[in-house]
Order: sequence, then structure tokens, then C-alpha cells
Amino acid sequence: MMLRALPPASASPTAALPRMATRAARSGMGCVPSQMGPRLMGVRSFSTDPLAAETLSPPPGEIYTSEHLAIQDSIRRFVQKEINPHVDQWEAAGIFPAKDLFRKYGALGFLGLTKPVENGGQALDFTYSVAAAEALGEADCGGVPMAIGVQTDMATPALARFGSADVRRQFLTPSVSGEMVACLGVSEVGAGSDVALLTTSATKDGDDYVINGGKMWTTNGEQADWMCCLLNTSPAASAAEVHTNKTMVCIPMDTRGVSVSPRLDKLGMRSSDTVQVTFENVRVPQAFRIGDEGKGFIYQMHQFQEERLFCAAGALRPMQKIIDETAAYCSQRQVFGKPVLANQAVRFKLAELKTEVEELRALLYRAVAKYTAGDDVTLLASMCKLKTGRLARRVSDSCLQYWGGMGYMNETRVSRFYRDHRLFSIGGGADEVMLEIICKLGGLAPQMKGKK
Ligand SMILES: Cc1cc2nc3c(=O)[nH]c(=O)nc-3n(C[C@H](O)[C@H](O)[C@H](O)COP(=O)(O)OP(=O)(O)OC[C@H]3O[C@@H](n4cnc5c(N)ncnc54)[C@H](O)[C@@H]3O)c2cc1C
Repeated sequence: MMLRALPPASASPTAALPRMATRAARSGMGCVPSQMGPRLMGVRSFSTDPLAAETLSPPPGEIYTSEHLAIQDSIRRFVQKEINPHVDQWEAAGIFPAKDLFRKYGALGFLGLTKPVENGGQALDFTYSVAAAEALGEADCGGVPMAIGVQTDMATPALARFGSADVRRQFLTPSVSGEMVACLGVSEVGAGSDVALLTTSATKDGDDYVINGGKMWTTNGEQADWMCCLLNTSPAASAAEVHTNKTMVCIPMDTRGVSVSPRLDKLGMRSSDTVQVTFENVRVPQAFRIGDEGKGFIYQMHQFQEERLFCAAGALRPMQKIIDETAAYCSQRQVFGKPVLANQAVRFKLAELKTEVEELRALLYRAVAKYTAGDDVTLLASMCKLKTGRLARRVSDSCLQYWGGMGYMNETRVSRFYRDHRLFSIGGGADEVMLEIICKLGGLAPQMKGKK
């Protein structure tokens, strides 16, 4: 399968920037040097300066230009002003105000970095999404960046690329401005890892689809205005047909027959709302289809590449921060007459983890550069996702240990990320699914008799 980056609709990256920079400047989040010091208080203040630009991302030259860094700076400022002061409250409430926040974020142009200009986007290439994901890692939680990622890089890439002008006008334009919240409906109660097994179906009746079934673990589902839904538009007569009987359809969430469960109670990502969605004779126009009938599975496989790269980018900054804050805490915390960091085993472990974060960054940038050049990066994106899941678990587990009892307290960032980061090995394709892909594409799968 040949994967291509979203084709720029018209404007060049630099042509698009002034518009966005102006919007950011108007809001006071323009690209000016930060005057803000470390925000965290009390025990959570054992951090190096969280705003130090050199630790946010590397200097221009790898995949980023000074324009990427300017956008990151604006997003970082947005996070500090509009997200972090409210995170504790949103985590406790189990939800954040997506409509309000997305409108503000959309007004700055950040919900449409890679989206076509005619839909209000900036038509920049995918490196800008990755830069944004990294900068969103400045948030004091994983839930809100994940919810934003669903809107920008999980529920909308296929719509932007394959949707008709009409369906884009109806669903993409308001999602870029932030007037609409999007969610992604792929997983079902009986089909998570094995997407091909999903059973939600649409039958044709006149110009409409009539949809029955349901989706599970839907992020943003409680607040969403529409769902990018993967469903079967014909029964699969053979095992091979499970990949060609699927279609992607935009479903307005206020359509009669759509019901949403009470919010699901989760281990982490608590500020993000997750629900189960049920469809009972839900009637939507066939015109709400994204692209061609029967190509939904392929579209979703494309969409997964962006989701997995976004996920890896979003994990970099939180991992860096946790390691740095742990080192800072351990250099002050005395045990047996010396700082915890004076133990070589502790600082060597932190040094190793820091090195691995940089390894992941290098792998990610390589994958993103190839993706932006139009290459198929299924293998590299799967490696990135696998490494993200594995490393995020090790970073948060190892660091939490060095905080001792404080690490077990909800008030420390490390405990929140310990819970949040556990998702990276499960959501968007579990580690084992990534390993299967790597085996298959990396020449490590056994040759099965009679099977191609
Ligand atoms: C907080 C949260 C938010 C989510 N948001 C969304 C969303 O917005 N939209 C959406 O569509 N989905 C969403 N998901 C669903 C998520 O993508 C699935 O949970 C994930 O794909 C795994 O599917 P499953 O839970 O059905 O696990 P299963 O498919 O039941 O797998 C269970 C376990 O089996 C193991 N396994 C799987 N395959 C293999 C294999 N080949 N070999 C060995 N072991 C294997 C893995 O360890 C896996 O974790 C979300 C999930 C969570 C928890």
C-alpha cells in the first residue's frame, strides 16, 4: 500500500503562516519570548524550566524549520494559558469543555494545520502536525492533547483527503474552526485489535444509509457533533472480503437512533470523555460517505499512520519532563545521608531513559520525513508506536519509583502520567498488533503453507 502525505491544497507553508501568526498575535499567544517562569508549586515544582525552548524540540534543521518552532511556541503558550490552569479540575470532573477549548484553539488556526485552505486550514504538510503534537505535550495531562489529536489527526485525515467538497464543507470546515467536535468510531465491543471483524452495518434505503450496531471506547463521544464511522456496507462473503466491504461515513451525533452511554470510568486520561455509542436504525444520507464505498478499511489504515505518528510525537515532551523532574526531585531528596540521585543506579537509569527518548525522536523524525515525501511508512510508524508504548510505560514506572511515596500521590505529575501513559500500549493498536505488522513487513513472519 502506498501512503502519501496529505497533498497541499494550494498555499505554501510560508504563505500560510502570516495568517496564523496574526491570529496568534491577536490572542496574545504570538511568537514572543516567554516571560513565564515554572508554574508548578510545592512538590510539583521540582522541575527544570518547563518552558526552556531547547528541551521542547531540536533546533531547525531536522524536520523542523523556524516556522515549526514558532508554531510550537504559540501552542505552548496556549497550553500554559488555556489548558494547564484547569487540568486538575478537568481531571477530577472526568471531562473538559471541548467545544469551548476547540473554538479557541481553532480560532488560532491550529485545528487545521494540514487541512485544505478551502476548509479554513493552512494546507501545511504533516511535519506541522507532528510539531503541534510535540508542543501539546506541554500539557499537564494526556487527556486533552489526545482529544485534540482525535479532532486533528485521527477522525479527520481521511475526510480531508478523500471526502467530497460537500461533505468536507459540512463536517471538516466546522471541525477546523472548532465549531464542531469530532470523534472516531472504529473499535467495537467485539472488534478492537482485529478491525476487520467489526459488525456495525449500513443498508441502503433510497438515498440514505440505515445504520445499526455500535462503537466502543469513543474518545470525545459525549461532546462530539459527528463521528467518522467505519462500518460494513455489504456482508463479507469470504475472509478476503472483510477488507473490501467497509465504508467510512460521517454520522451527526444528534441523528435519531444515536445513543451515548454514560461516561466510561477509566484508569487514566481522565480529563477526556470516553463513551460507548449505539446506532439503532440511524438514517443518514449516502452523501455523508467519505470517498468510495468499500474503501473504508484502506482509508482507516492511512488514518492509523497519522494517529500512530501523532501519538509518538505527543509522548516525547511528557517523557522528557518526567525524567527531568525526577532528576530534580532526586537531587534534593535525601536518603541514607545523600541525595537519591547520588546513587549511580538511579542516575544511570534516568540517563538510559533520556537516551531512549532521543532514539524514539530520531525514529519518529525519520518516519515523518519519509511520510511527508510520500513514502509508505507503515513499518516505521508501527515501530514508532510500539516504542512509544513500551518506553512511556518504562519511563513513568521507573520515575514513579524514584519519587517513593510522593510518586504514589495523585498530586505529582508522575502518577498522572503513569496512569495516562498506560494507554499508549493499547489504544490505536496494541503493542502486539504493532509487533505483528513489524513481523509481516519486516520479513519476520513464518511462511504459512497454502497462505500468501
Ligand atoms: C481511553 C481509550 C480511548 C480510546 N479511544 C478510541 C476512539 O476514539 N476510537 C476508537 O475507535 N477506539 C478507541 N479506543 C479503542 C482502542 O483503540 C482499542 O482498545 C485497541 O485497539 C485494542 O482493542 P481491544 O481493546 O478490543 O483489545 P483486544 O482486541 O480485545 O485485545 C486484547 C489484548 O490482546 C492482545 N493482542 C491483540 N492482538 C494480539 C496478537 N496478534 N498477538 C498477541 N496478542 C494480541 C493485546 O495485548 C491486546 O491489548 C480507545 C481505547 C481506550 C482505552
